Amino acid sequence: MSTQDAGDRSRSLPHLALSAHAHNREGLHRTDGAWLEARWGDPTTRVLVVAGTRIHPVEGGVAWVSPVEAPEGIRVLLGERDGVTRFALVCDPADAPGDKDDWVALRGLFPYLGERGEDDAPWLFHAIGLAEWLQATRFCPRCGGSLESRHAGHELQCTSCGKRQFPRTDPAVIMAVTLGEPGSADERILLGRQSVWPPGRWSTLAGFVEPGETFEDAVRREVMEEVGTPVGEVTYFGNQPWPLPASIMIGFVARATSDVIDVDGAEIEEARWFTRDQLRADAASGAVVVPQGVSISSSLLESWVGESLAGGW
Ligand SMILES: [Zn+2]
Repeated sequence: MSTQDAGDRSRSLPHLALSAHAHNREGLHRTDGAWLEARWGDPTTRVLVVAGTRIHPVEGGVAWVSPVEAPEGIRVLLGERDGVTRFALVCDPADAPGDKDDWVALRGLFPYLGERGEDDAPWLFHAIGLAEWLQATRFCPRCGGSLESRHAGHELQCTSCGKRQFPRTDPAVIMAVTLGEPGSADERILLGRQSVWPPGRWSTLAGFVEPGETFEDAVRREVMEEVGTPVGEVTYFGNQPWPLPASIMIGFVARATSDVIDVDGAEIEEARWFTRDQLRADAASGAVVVPQGVSISSSLLESWVGESLAGGW
């Protein structure tokens, strides 16, 4: 298979569970007070209450309420889809209705993201990403002054010096490092495991992009730092928001130019090459446990193997 074919295959296969069905964010209405009040006053408007950074899940998704049912807090305009306007209401956890144990963090919501949950995911990521930022950003970085929420929750302005702050997203690269003729039986993929993980758990490598660095160079640097393997060609795969607490994961297929492995021993404890057959067999026997479900790592692996793997975490 040619390199071009491999690239086409990467583009056609990925199913990025949480990247579909995005909403219209209505960005131009964020400063329109009358429009915002009218939408909030419409009983068909739906509100996702966020207690700090936690959400109340219900069967098949998350709990949407009407504006009159929402507690006091910061109104964040999420946007519109299918004629319905949706807000997040970010409140102090002490003001959240019901039992404290009903409210779970984003990672704990994934089991609730079933078929309908995929529709909820872009709203959840938007809402929780902003809630994480609002919670973490309490003072002006220039003068230490207090902050005021503006632009329907998407901007914070210092009440003393006027400096404005905007929600941040930290790019992280995640890569399937492969070696050998693409699509051949001998082609191998490099997986690593962290020392803090339970035995048998393996995954693709990932790391944050540094200032002044391209995504492709971040892929090459992270792979070299973590496992000592040189990488040549780097091909874009897809991306997925990951507000845990403020990332977007940008996926790549990275072609190794050597099979050398020299793990850093810090972040990565062990790294290994797997053929597709080895990975299928080890996943089936439970000897190797790889990511499943909504993560982009799972999509990268599924795309490379050509099918879902047994088991998983
Ligand atoms: Zn200030």
